[in-house]
Amino acid sequence: MSVDLRDLDSDQLQAATAPRGPVAILAGAGTGKTRTITYRIAHLIDQGFASPGRVLAVTFTNRAAGEMRHRLGLMGIGGVQARTFHAAALRQLRYFWPQVAGDLPWRLIDNKFSLVGRAARSLGIATDTENIRDLLGEIEWAKATLIAPDGYAERAQNRKTPEPPDKVAEVYRRYEELKTTPEGIGLDFDDLLLHTAGALENSSAIAEEFREQYRTFVVDEYQDVTPLQQRVLDAWLGERDDLTVVGDANQTIYSFTGATPDYLLNFSRKYPHATVVKLQRDYRSTPQVTNLANEVIGKATGRVAGTRLKLQGMRPAGPDPEFDSYEDEPSEARAVAGRIRSLLDKGVPAHEIAVLYRINAQSATFEQALADAGIVYQVRGGEEFFQRAEIRQAISQLVRVAQIDGLAGGERLTKVVAAALAPLGLTDTEPEGAQARERWQSLKALAELSEELVVATPDLDLNGLLRKLQERAAAKHPPTMEGVTLASLHAAKGLEWDAVFLVGLTDGMLPITHAIKAGQEQIEEERRLFYVGVTRAREYLYHSYAKARQEGGRANRKRSRFLDGIVADPDAVTTSRRPRTQRCRVCGKPLETPTAKVLGRCEDCPSDAGEGVFEALRQWRLATATENQVPAYIVFTDATLMALAEAMPESLEEMLSVSGIGPVKVQNFGEEVLEVLEQFR
Ligand code: ATP
Ligand code: MG
Repeated sequence: MSVDLRDLDSDQLQAATAPRGPVAILAGAGTGKTRTITYRIAHLIDQGFASPGRVLAVTFTNRAAGEMRHRLGLMGIGGVQARTFHAAALRQLRYFWPQVAGDLPWRLIDNKFSLVGRAARSLGIATDTENIRDLLGEIEWAKATLIAPDGYAERAQNRKTPEPPDKVAEVYRRYEELKTTPEGIGLDFDDLLLHTAGALENSSAIAEEFREQYRTFVVDEYQDVTPLQQRVLDAWLGERDDLTVVGDANQTIYSFTGATPDYLLNFSRKYPHATVVKLQRDYRSTPQVTNLANEVIGKATGRVAGTRLKLQGMRPAGPDPEFDSYEDEPSEARAVAGRIRSLLDKGVPAHEIAVLYRINAQSATFEQALADAGIVYQVRGGEEFFQRAEIRQAISQLVRVAQIDGLAGGERLTKVVAAALAPLGLTDTEPEGAQARERWQSLKALAELSEELVVATPDLDLNGLLRKLQERAAAKHPPTMEGVTLASLHAAKGLEWDAVFLVGLTDGMLPITHAIKAGQEQIEEERRLFYVGVTRAREYLYHSYAKARQEGGRANRKRSRFLDGIVADPDAVTTSRRPRTQRCRVCGKPLETPTAKVLGRCEDCPSDAGEGVFEALRQWRLATATENQVPAYIVFTDATLMALAEAMPESLEEMLSVSGIGPVKVQNFGEEVLEVLEQFR
């Protein structure tokens, strides 16, 4: 076992090594929450406080669950159950069902949409796709919030509903009836959770058996737990409190499903003896990225905004985030592809690059541009890796080989795998042609995954490897592929890349139109989504939007309001004091030198700075430069100081419109500059 707690900082260590019992980590993006809980599990097991089979770790996606098992595996710990709420409930319900319902058959329903359609039709309600989707959304919200059909109309009074609330309630009731057929009871995903909680709540035999089995619980992304999931968690725990939760209220992005950060924020009220740890050091991103993230979330308003934590970027400095606008979407996509090409040329691996957008429909234009540029990509939520034809063939091939060489292990095993995959298309070099290349890419990913597993478990033989691959397939945990990722912001939660492109940042897309219509609370959720996007980047961060959809289309789109006050809008008619027509504001002559352009006046025209302001700024700059051990001009140039003295900005926002001052400067020095200027107002 190799649990090296030196991989954690002192705050993380406190959380990881806290005694058994309630622990909450409330911390911002990239501060190592997921890493810390993984180490906590490993530590509890390593020290003999818990045995692997008695730990249940809940994560938000199958992928995250797989990642956690993988990381634990690398520390030599196997057998921990890491699953989503749904996957865990499905497994438990399968096991306990005979005790709950005897031999009454049940099945997981996979046609919710058509059932809601039938329910709506039977009630004479419009059955166009959009209406059904909205009705289904309401039913899902109600179930996740523990509202039965009878209670719906009252609880939905302040909601924007696709039909009058009592009509939605009827559809909901009808849907529940339609699920059950002569073939058996139909359960949707939410029912799995409901029945699991019910089984534990109503049967002491089941509760006892379960609680004997699972004793330690860990929940990641706890800010996005629904009341229904919380009920399952409470049922799992019973009277016990061996629970570790981690989350970031500022990353609450699933409120529309009924999720709420309340449980996270009220954790220490529920468990007054809980160990509560806050983390601020951000190990994921450069200070340039964390500064921007702080600014984005700093503008949040409303309830959750009170939980602000300031991220402190721990990585070495990197490039400033960039912001670009384009005439139309295809141009935006081509420019993004071009930038990706230069990153690849610089040596950034393709799997370390992501293009993130608000809704899946935005991906098509970017897919096209990447394909045109010959850049391999995968769309998250696309076809499942383990379902691909070449991967299924490869696994069957490995099964055949295992019949004669099942005990091959170590380095030889890696060779055996490569030899088995070669006839299927895994050549030494990447082939030409899109299809052959795609096939090659997935086979290569499988070979690399096998190698990684062999290295992690030195005594693994081919039979064991096949078992591990099957586990990954069952957990829907594909290997990281050598391709650029395209994903929605929602799907990007918890993940990280060296380079992130946040695209399509228009008002109407982020925040999305229906959020704008719904009001401030929904707009705040969209802002958090933007914050999630920004904090996915380790080093390179690009923002872009297009003014029109089509080439030659009407340029009627505006950039996202979330950029206001963070970066100057080159397309807006500015009302700043800096003249746009680069002419001297004193004599009106065109400005020639860079200094004159920064100042907005000829260098020899009189300055209108107040007495002593420039000198005070210079003194402040000297002190700051000395303290930070950098040359003075790195803080601000003389021309910028003079421009500040003349413009006398009154807020950070106003300061951004002074030439030579970008968001990073404002973040680093803005407050101090305002303080200096304050003395002269
Ligand atoms: P999110 O809120 O986005 O889910 P998180 O708080 O879960 O973020 P992690 O994903 O655990 O953050 O960590 C972010 C990155 O920082 C990871 O690459 C992780 O390995 C690294 N990291 C975390 N803690 C440390 C540390 N003490 N030293 C070095 N790297 C660290
Ligand atoms: Mg995380």
